[in-house]
Amino acid sequence: MKLAIKHGHEQLIDVDTAITRVLSSVDELGFEIKTTLQALNHVCFEDVIATLNIPPTDNSSMDGYAVKSEDVKGASSDRPIDLSVIGTISAGQIPDFEVVQNSAAKIMTGASIPKGADAVIPFEDIQNIEKESIRVVEMVKKRNNIRDSGEDVKKGNVLIKKGKLISAADIGVMASQGLVDIKVVKKPVVAILATGNELMGPGEVLENGKIYDSNSPAIAAAVIEAGAVPKVLGIAKDTHDSLKEKIELASSCDLIVTSAGVSKGDYDIVKDFINNIGEIQFWSVKMRPAKPIAFGCIDTNNRKKIPIIGLPGNPVSAMVAFEKFGRPAIFKMRGIHDYSRFVIKAILQDAIDNYDGRRVYARGIVKKIENEYHVSLTGSQQSNLLTSMSKANGLVVCPEDVSRLEIGAIVRVEMINWTG
Ligand code: AMP
Ligand code: MG
Repeated sequence: MKLAIKHGHEQLIDVDTAITRVLSSVDELGFEIKTTLQALNHVCFEDVIATLNIPPTDNSSMDGYAVKSEDVKGASSDRPIDLSVIGTISAGQIPDFEVVQNSAAKIMTGASIPKGADAVIPFEDIQNIEKESIRVVEMVKKRNNIRDSGEDVKKGNVLIKKGKLISAADIGVMASQGLVDIKVVKKPVVAILATGNELMGPGEVLENGKIYDSNSPAIAAAVIEAGAVPKVLGIAKDTHDSLKEKIELASSCDLIVTSAGVSKGDYDIVKDFINNIGEIQFWSVKMRPAKPIAFGCIDTNNRKKIPIIGLPGNPVSAMVAFEKFGRPAIFKMRGIHDYSRFVIKAILQDAIDNYDGRRVYARGIVKKIENEYHVSLTGSQQSNLLTSMSKANGLVVCPEDVSRLEIGAIVRVEMINWTG
């Protein structure tokens, strides 16, 4: 049954319920194959199994001489032991000779240990080096300065686990196995649509009374930050026909994010539009900013249901609503379950009033002073002031049941832009 959308009768739901509803409407996407380098920041789709031991052979960790430890047992400056040098092994070579009793082979870091040798003495520990012989004045323990085959990776073991977010180091680990590509969870393609008769696009000469669309670029950037691929659809007018024409361009996308047209003005038709071509699940959340936020799914020609988030139009509300609902949805589609931000407990420098029981996300600037975090507000918290978002590095949370947070209160700050 469709939710009835009547002005003045919205059902306010709390933020956590809204997030749960969004998450239960989106699924992890399938896989795609990427080269190991392109796989960066994708999630590994299935366990990758090692096919090689790393290192592949026992090899030297030092430049020095490969010896039989038994031969230099008891060596000291009072009792030096001379060994004859029978050859040189460089990295990449497999030695074709054996270290026999009282002999040694010159060996470079990374070179394979020759047969017969069980330790390496570094150059700097050898008293006297001649071309044909060396004088050893220190004992060496068996296996000293030898790196064992398989010490880093054992053939058959899991190299990269399903669900792991692939890092630069993982790319190195895969490359050390000779892998050239890997199955990763697909990155969602997110359609972004601005709506509003007043909006103009980049490069257009601004007409009287109009404004440039700042939501599309800001949300597209936030989509990239969340690890997805934005598809910017442009600007729709406040008419069903214009919305329909633009939304058709999103039929192959995994998520649609619109902005504006979801509150109670005469031209706020986005939520009705969603309900006409699909189903609205909610369109009011107990939060400030971003109370009018619509979520639903729409049906497309190819019978695929696409989740759609109708962000509010005010630029701060749009960004905060994307942070709270769009980003977690993208994370789930990418196969990442923990979408939480780094949270800091900070001492509040400006009071926050919460007069109607919503959860407030105030724009804050966190600074570390000595060993404490202090958070001040960015100034006026009106949802049209986009520069407040650009000044902020965190969102200060005032819970629904707290009517005022005083200066000095310890508050939770969700760090949306934290470089440490
Ligand atoms: P609305 O939800 O359509 O009532 O829009 C709320 C406010 O956000 C209005 O002041 C709009 O002009 C503004 N707004 C809507 N869309 C955008 C956009 N894409 N870029 C900048 N401001 C916008
Ligand atoms: Mg509007």
